[in-house]
Amino acid sequence: MSRHIPRKRFGQHFLTDPDIISAIVHAIRPRSGEHLVEIGPGLGALTVPLLEQAGHLTVIELDRDIVARLQKRFPPDRLTIHAGDALTFDFASLPAPLRLVGNLPYNISTPLLFHLAAFASRITDIHVMLQKEVVDRMTARSGTADYGRLSVMLQYRFDMELLFDVPPDAFDPPPKVDSAVVRMIPRSQDEQSRCDIAELEKLVTSAFSQRRKTLRNTLGHLISPDGFASLGIDPGRRAETLELADFIRMTNHLGNH
Ligand code: SAM
Repeated sequence: MSRHIPRKRFGQHFLTDPDIISAIVHAIRPRSGEHLVEIGPGLGALTVPLLEQAGHLTVIELDRDIVARLQKRFPPDRLTIHAGDALTFDFASLPAPLRLVGNLPYNISTPLLFHLAAFASRITDIHVMLQKEVVDRMTARSGTADYGRLSVMLQYRFDMELLFDVPPDAFDPPPKVDSAVVRMIPRSQDEQSRCDIAELEKLVTSAFSQRRKTLRNTLGHLISPDGFASLGIDPGRRAETLELADFIRMTNHLGNH
């Protein structure tokens, strides 16, 4: 087969470092019979070793030239190929439970994570490679500079763990940024105190809209001084000092008032 020229618009940086590839597959630990779904298989760096261990794989790939290569290379009873955009893919159309994996196109990583979060109840776990900077924000704890909307919204749905960093020279072509592999496990329903996620998102977006401002400034139009008092939250604090549980309590307070 002729050489595939990597396409920038599809965020194509292909993994070439065998140690990194085996570290990722080892972290995933696929077992035969599991429903593994790879987003963006590309030239198959992860697909081949995952297939060896799982026996079958479902993949979603946007680049039609790559889809044609995959169709030539793998028999359909081993590899189920969906040609299309993972951002709009209906993951509910696949039999659950799903194990999602991928070295994601970095240009769409945040919207893709939010799209995947909507299917959390059908997912066993997610192992993805992303820009390290994004993984740092996803896993950030309250009180740190990286803590923000992405941290709160994803921590509401998932327990997350940064597994290891990956340098640019593990890819061809190398990206300009460092990468990292993260494991995401959906939190069980009773373990997480719940609230209306759309309302949580509105509240969190307002709270972090101006990071340096206090809650009195960013949320004063939603929560009265008495409301803050009844929640036991000082309106002189900034959003980055609040825990996930505080955002959930504020969202439920709004729902009740
Ligand atoms: N998994 C391969 C590897 O590790 O070498 C390729 C990773 S490359 C960073 C990202 C892959 O996602 C490419 O194959 C690209 O064509 C594909 N892709 C880009 N945007 C996509 C989208 N919206 N939906 C599905 N696949 C996409």
